[in-house]
Amino acid sequence: MTLVTQMREVVSESGALAAASKPHLLFVEDEATLREHLAERLSDEYRVDTAGNGTEALLAVMRAKPALVVTDIVMPDMDGVELLKTLRQTPDTQGIPVLLISGSAADEHRIEGFEHGADGFLPKPYTERELRALIGSMLRSARTRTEAAARDAREQAVIERATLLESITDGFYALDERWCFTYVNQRALDYFGKNREDLLGRCFWDVFPMARGSVLEEQYKSAAHEQRSVFFETLSPLTGRWVEVRAYPTPQGLAVNFRDIAERKQMEAELQRALAVLRVREEQLSENQRQLASEVDSMRRLHELVSRLLGCNDLQTALEEVLDAAIALLEADMGNVQLFDSQARELRIVAQRGFRDDILEYFRRTGADLGSVCGRAAQHGQRMIVEDVQADPDFAPHLQIAASAGFRAVQSTPVTSRAGELLGVLSTHFRNPHRPSERALRMVDLYARQAAEFLERMRVETSLKEADRRKSEFLAVLAHELRNPLAPIRNGLEVLRLRAPADHMSQRTVSIMDRQISHMVHLVDDLLDVSRITRGSVALTREKVSLQVVLANAIEASRPLIEAQAHELVVEPQPADPVIVDGDRHRLAQIFSNLLSNSAKYTDRGGSITLSLVCEGGEAVISVRDTGIGIPTHALERVFEMFSQVQPGDVRSQGGLGIGLSLVRTLAQLHGGSVSAGSRGPGTGSVFTVRLPVVQGDSGPNRWTSDA
Ligand code: ADP
Repeated sequence: MTLVTQMREVVSESGALAAASKPHLLFVEDEATLREHLAERLSDEYRVDTAGNGTEALLAVMRAKPALVVTDIVMPDMDGVELLKTLRQTPDTQGIPVLLISGSAADEHRIEGFEHGADGFLPKPYTERELRALIGSMLRSARTRTEAAARDAREQAVIERATLLESITDGFYALDERWCFTYVNQRALDYFGKNREDLLGRCFWDVFPMARGSVLEEQYKSAAHEQRSVFFETLSPLTGRWVEVRAYPTPQGLAVNFRDIAERKQMEAELQRALAVLRVREEQLSENQRQLASEVDSMRRLHELVSRLLGCNDLQTALEEVLDAAIALLEADMGNVQLFDSQARELRIVAQRGFRDDILEYFRRTGADLGSVCGRAAQHGQRMIVEDVQADPDFAPHLQIAASAGFRAVQSTPVTSRAGELLGVLSTHFRNPHRPSERALRMVDLYARQAAEFLERMRVETSLKEADRRKSEFLAVLAHELRNPLAPIRNGLEVLRLRAPADHMSQRTVSIMDRQISHMVHLVDDLLDVSRITRGSVALTREKVSLQVVLANAIEASRPLIEAQAHELVVEPQPADPVIVDGDRHRLAQIFSNLLSNSAKYTDRGGSITLSLVCEGGEAVISVRDTGIGIPTHALERVFEMFSQVQPGDVRSQGGLGIGLSLVRTLAQLHGGSVSAGSRGPGTGSVFTVRLPVVQGDSGPNRWTSDA
């Protein structure tokens, strides 16, 4: 560490000690007697440190910085000029005044001394008085210099501060302890619209009387009295604009710094307004969302109701579905659906929820023109709402029963057909006075619409069934009536044939008549079968039958047609053991002869028909395959419907009615079996497969006779 830096550190550490009441001298002189003598002499006026040479002197300076160094020039080790140079090189010591004393009045010493910044020079010999006078004068001028420098620095600081205060964009003013202005910056003057002279020295409360009793007074006084700084925003009583104010207590009074925040406030207000608008929008949005969700929910409920009604064929169940949906939707406590009897002009309850039997008995039949809510709805053909039955004079006759049933409010919605005809009334009841929302009521209308659709559908279905029943009845009568005259005609023909007419013409006529009569008998038999089937009156004479035998009979019956068409009939190898089914041998043969005849009919001359019988997992599988015209895929299922023909009027059907396959299916089903059609399309041939349950093992004869 260099001597200079050591000095710097010690000086800065000990700087505080330097201040003493007597000025501090360092007296440097190698001649001890003289040194001690003078130190002694001067100690009356000064605090005197001594040193014997330059080095000792530097150490002394390091310990305590003197106000003046008086040093001899010629000394051993480090002389006075060296000491001076060293002091001047160090910032902390360069300001210490140095008085050089020289033994000779040699000019070069003096010149060198001044060149290195000596402040005074005293040649030896000198008197004590001379020395004192010189020391006194040097200390005085040093003090004057220091004071001037300090003043300059203070003034400079004030100037800088004032410039700063003038340049800031905030308003600034200072008040003394009597609340008088001691300083106001330009910004504040501009803001108040005043001149400096208007304000300086005048009392704040006199200049701005409107500030009395305001937030300003409260805050300023609190800052001054409690000696703490305050910060607040207020609508200024001085200007009527928003300001942000900071006030600090100062030793003289109060310093106030303020800023106009009107624009910021306006922006904040606009922001708040925008936020409020946004909040309202958000609320609207979420309200819309809520509404949407509830609409979707309503639609879902309606959809569920519609799908349940579609799958429902029972009036009671359907109306209960509608009622349950309406009760859930309206959050009602009970309800009922009444149907309107147009002849008796009364409403009858057909579905209900939540009513006791005695109440139901009371309301079981309600006249459409009585005062009840449902009666009024029926009478006027529009919804009736009674929010509180106790407040409704028309309801008075039923008040007691309503109280007993436990309801106070009712809504009744008429159920009307598309043509506007009254079908019934859908009512819901509430324990407490209540009015359902418009939206919920709109949904109830849709539910009532569904109930009406259902009722109309039921009506159509009922009348269709009725028509169907009448048609079957007509067919049965017709078939019977047709069959009766056929028997004598046939007998008559037999007689004619026995008499064997000689001429060829008569023979041909008889044989044509015979063929046509057979055909008619066949048709009439088919018709009779149809009517029996549709009336469910086909009686099977069941027994244990071998399918091999049944198939042989069927082949026998269809052989004439097959041969007439020159078809080849292939019967595939059949199981060696009889395949036994529980059934009616004639009806079973009818199934297969029908299939074989169809194959013969719907295959062009010279085709091939294959009959097979196999057993598969407890079932007999019989198939009739041909190389005929085939069946389009879309018609495969339809061919089994009654009176269904792929190409109506096709000559191949040979006057058939489209009954055969329907009969086949019914007979197969009556035997616990099934039939299906297969074809890869027109021209590819067809296959009809019948499956029948096989009787397995020896289960004893009872089983067969019992279901016969
Ligand atoms: P019908 O033969 O009296 O018209 P069916 O009920 O026996 O009545 O047959 C219904 C329809 O099915 C026939 O009109 C015909 O179009 C079709 N069909 C039945 N069997 C065959 C078959 N083997 N090949 C092609 N089409 C057939």
